[in-house]
Amino acid sequence: MSEPRVAIYPGSFDPITNGHLDLIRRASRQFEDLIVAVLKHDTKRAEFPLGERLDMIREAVAGLSNVRVGSFDGLLVDYARAQGASLILRGIRAVSDYEYELQMALMNRKLAPEIETVFMLPGEAYSYLSSRLVKEVCRHGGRIDDLVPPMVANRLCAERVAGSDNV
Ligand code: ADP
Repeated sequence: MSEPRVAIYPGSFDPITNGHLDLIRRASRQFEDLIVAVLKHDTKRAEFPLGERLDMIREAVAGLSNVRVGSFDGLLVDYARAQGASLILRGIRAVSDYEYELQMALMNRKLAPEIETVFMLPGEAYSYLSSRLVKEVCRHGGRIDDLVPPMVANRLCAERVAGSDNV
């Protein structure tokens, strides 16, 4: 029997969106074991602390039995090796994602030739969706309830109310 294929889906997930979730659902049908891995220390300033990002992902993937959630620091390939993963999953929304993703995939291949990066495309409805844009729309009072899971919308709205100027 062949070895189960363990894939890692790394990212900031600040916060998880329906685009990430679409990719997770697609990947969970292709790989025996999928680990959604949140980068602990990103150069970008995070909106949500790591613990909250992990909670939101856990809730969103609760119905997918072969999906686990974790976090990592340092080199992704070291984490992938420690988890026994042979695949790194990344999403490509548009050509604009390609250059950055290509660089990272080739660097990871140089560091760990035995690990392959695989790219998947989200459903077209999600191809314009990013965590950054969702936060921006919410900040200005736009509707985001069909762009993110319900608990993410609630938390983002709560932050907006807490952060609003009520004079
Ligand atoms: P990072 O900071 O590592 O890019 P993100 O959370 O922004 O973290 O994205 C993680 C991965 O998910 C990336 O490969 C990104 O291209 C992909 N991704 C983000 N949003 C979407 C989406 N709407 N559809 C498909 N893939 C996406």
